[in-house]
Amino acid sequence: MKLARFDEGRIGVVTDKGIVDVTQACGFDPADWPPVGPTRLISEFERLRPALQQAAEEGQPSPLDSVQLRTPIPWPNKVVAFPVNYHAHGAEMGAGYRATNQGFFLKPNSSLSGAGEPVVLPDLPGREVHHESELAIVIGKTARNVPRAKWRDHVFGYACLLDMVVRGREERVARKAYDTFCPVGPWITTADEVPDPTRLRMQLWVDGELRQDANTQNLVLDIPGMIEMASAVMTLYPGDIIATGTPEGVGPVVAGNKIRIAIDHCGEMTVNVVRGEGGRAAMFDEPYEFVRKAQAAS
Ligand code: MN
Repeated sequence: MKLARFDEGRIGVVTDKGIVDVTQACGFDPADWPPVGPTRLISEFERLRPALQQAAEEGQPSPLDSVQLRTPIPWPNKVVAFPVNYHAHGAEMGAGYRATNQGFFLKPNSSLSGAGEPVVLPDLPGREVHHESELAIVIGKTARNVPRAKWRDHVFGYACLLDMVVRGREERVARKAYDTFCPVGPWITTADEVPDPTRLRMQLWVDGELRQDANTQNLVLDIPGMIEMASAVMTLYPGDIIATGTPEGVGPVVAGNKIRIAIDHCGEMTVNVVRGEGGRAAMFDEPYEFVRKAQAAS
């Protein structure tokens, strides 16, 4: 099933004929604040699935381009992210570590946005904001101390994710925390529709230029390993999102660009980059020049 969130927080099932509004069958009010309905929907999905399926079959599909796609899970417990998890990206960054020995960080939930929303650039002279294309794992069942062999039991589904970042040497979380710096979408594809998540091609274009092209089989710390590592430290809850790391080819975006990301079985989304108001912060006053280490060395 392809589960989308759209317009004012409504829930839709995406079919070949378009998107069908199944909000009624989800049992929550899209206007609720905080918007924890989608988080609860995932935790109760097995019970709700037949009703959602029926609503999707009986409802009237609307064209996908007639709705505004929002981030599928606006209020998860956390967004976990693994840095430097493809060797070639580690090389281009000149990083002497990998996710296997560095571990993970967290992105704030407030950075989440959707396929139909722009990435809003802060006003930071002398700084580049880069795209990082990543596969998102959505947790389906509470996970603590999960052994590798049991990883599948805890996965709800997958999605495309952009881990946007201000390049620099400051605290990683601060550089990746701006609002709209974590687009997720276009929807969540449930795990049963992704035959082998360890072999998914992932591509990213900026204004039609292919910049990133990789396969999840090249992850340094693989998907079972990420769930094992994260759940060894903290409880993973239904709706939690894991950003699995970006391959080589990261680079700057500027206002007016269109970022397109596509992942096998997960669909694709194109988000507009716009210039926002404000966002200046003292730690970013010093300019920073990004130099691709792998190229500089060759
Ligand atoms: Mn990343």
